[in-house]
Amino acid sequence: MSQENVIEVWNKILGILEKDISESTFNTWIVPLEPQYYDENSFVVHTGQALAPSIIRKNHYNEFSSAIKSVFGKELELKIIFDEELAKNFAKKAAKRASQAEKESADTKNTNSVLKYQYDSLTQMQSSNLNLKYKFENFVVGSNNKLAYVAAQTVAQHPGTKYNPLYIYGGPGLGKTHIMQAIGHYIIKNRPELKVLFITAEEFVNDVVNALARGDEKTKKMNKFRKKYREVDVLLIDDIQLIAGKTRTEEEVFNTFNVLHGSGKQIVITSDRTPKEIPSLSDRLVSRFEWGLMADIQIPDIETRMAILQNLAKDSSIEVPNNIIEFLAEVYSNNIRELEGAFNRVTAYASINDVPLDIENVKRIINYSEEEKSYTFDGIVDEVSGYYNISPKELKGTGRSSKVAEARQVAIYLCRELTKQSFPDIGKYFDKKHTTILYSYDKIKAELKTNHSLSYTVNGLLKKIES
Ligand code: ADP
Ligand code: MG
Repeated sequence: MSQENVIEVWNKILGILEKDISESTFNTWIVPLEPQYYDENSFVVHTGQALAPSIIRKNHYNEFSSAIKSVFGKELELKIIFDEELAKNFAKKAAKRASQAEKESADTKNTNSVLKYQYDSLTQMQSSNLNLKYKFENFVVGSNNKLAYVAAQTVAQHPGTKYNPLYIYGGPGLGKTHIMQAIGHYIIKNRPELKVLFITAEEFVNDVVNALARGDEKTKKMNKFRKKYREVDVLLIDDIQLIAGKTRTEEEVFNTFNVLHGSGKQIVITSDRTPKEIPSLSDRLVSRFEWGLMADIQIPDIETRMAILQNLAKDSSIEVPNNIIEFLAEVYSNNIRELEGAFNRVTAYASINDVPLDIENVKRIINYSEEEKSYTFDGIVDEVSGYYNISPKELKGTGRSSKVAEARQVAIYLCRELTKQSFPDIGKYFDKKHTTILYSYDKIKAELKTNHSLSYTVNGLLKKIES
């Protein structure tokens, strides 16, 4: 069979896949594949990306199978083979593609309408506290945040009538603030008559404290406070867990919530945990926060992390080879803020110092050390269960005796401290919810300050594991 024929067939397959697979995944993993040949039983493609075979097999095998079937009229096995030669060329090609894509998108952008939007809404934007970067357009959607994304879009399109409140929760640096502000931007753009206010729970607490301060102006201040929060159409409160235990603030949140909700105004809340898991949050607030929709954001998978970096790379002044993107996405697996931070450090360093972006340089810039990876959950659990004289199985189980519970919490604390893995990842290992893990970690951390025997135990274990 001729080479043209293979390419022609491949293009047909791509034409079908393009409709079934998200654009970012398609461009990252599928477009760079190089078709080689097909025979009676299989279709063989090569790749220069080490992760491509497993990712495609795991996530997109069905789409491929049905595309191949509809082109050939029968099933062929897709074989994806890693090719070292291709890997060497890959960096160059990826850089070229990126600059091409950038050019195309610059050509088609309608600069006028962008400017007009920014001008019209500037005053609104300033009074609403929003960050210009946090829009839906800059938010990469993956299976980890799909639910939150869809819910946020629905709320943005139908403020006050669909999910009220919308409660978004998840670990640090996973995009909660971003997606919440995206709702605000969308509404300001499409419903300019509505008043949007974004506030962190911390600012809310400060406002309450100021309004309650003693003095002649007290009533006036309280009225001003209430006006500020009750005359908005969309209230976005970030990191609500910070109001826990602050009784007067909770009461004002409760009153504000009732007024807004009662008059059909939209409320969006974010938190690092579910309402029930916020310590000492009053039942009446817990139940109100649960009234609408609760959507969680999980750790993004490697494809989503790469897509996020690719997005950043598009706007970067220097070309970032794909193997570097892949490397960073692998190293920073559980916090997008850290992932972005590393990307920014790497590109800034490379452009200022004019050094090539190869793996060795990147490792140096981010202080990467292989050693950090040497602590394993299994190793930590073994040590801790040995110390408490229980089996690892018991430690990871559900037993609630005080010895077992303490051993489990200590193990969780050490897993987090030593591996820096995310709470959800640790949760998967222990087969517990990420919020349970968070709770255990917080508890041990707090107790270490006052409980000397615990601190002795934990330090002893740390020394043993580290040696
Ligand atoms: P959180 O509020 O959950 O701690 P942020 O919303 O502040 O996290 O996000 C941290 C950083 O990661 C921000 O710069 C944000 O733009 C970026 N980010 C998070 N999720 C995404 C995503 N899905 N796509 C693009 N950028 C993201
Ligand atoms: Mg945040």
